[in-house]
Amino acid sequence: MTDQTSGEVTSCGYQGYEFGARYPDSVCYEGRLLDADHCDSEGNLYDQDEDIPCPMCRRADAVKWHAGRFNDGTYKERLKSARALVADIINNRKTGRFPL
Ligand SMILES: [Zn+2]
Repeated sequence: MTDQTSGEVTSCGYQGYEFGARYPDSVCYEGRLLDADHCDSEGNLYDQDEDIPCPMCRRADAVKWHAGRFNDGTYKERLKSARALVADIINNRKTGRFPL
């Protein structure tokens, strides 16, 4: 662990499961989620071009993002499911009920 970075990184500290692993594999970086599995040997996360919104920092964007990943139903139905999912994610962060 090196700690040479100066200046605060804007992160809410969110960790989640957006990348499909069984352990928390996404971390919030300035409101965007980066894949914790993609880093160099120094532990610096690769910034992938994909804009994956953090559900804590950018709730509305995260709902849209999740809605876009669901395959079934109309967009309206998917939005509804996505809203419930993001609400669960946020709620679980408050209660400490992982994983989700
Ligand atoms: Zn965040």
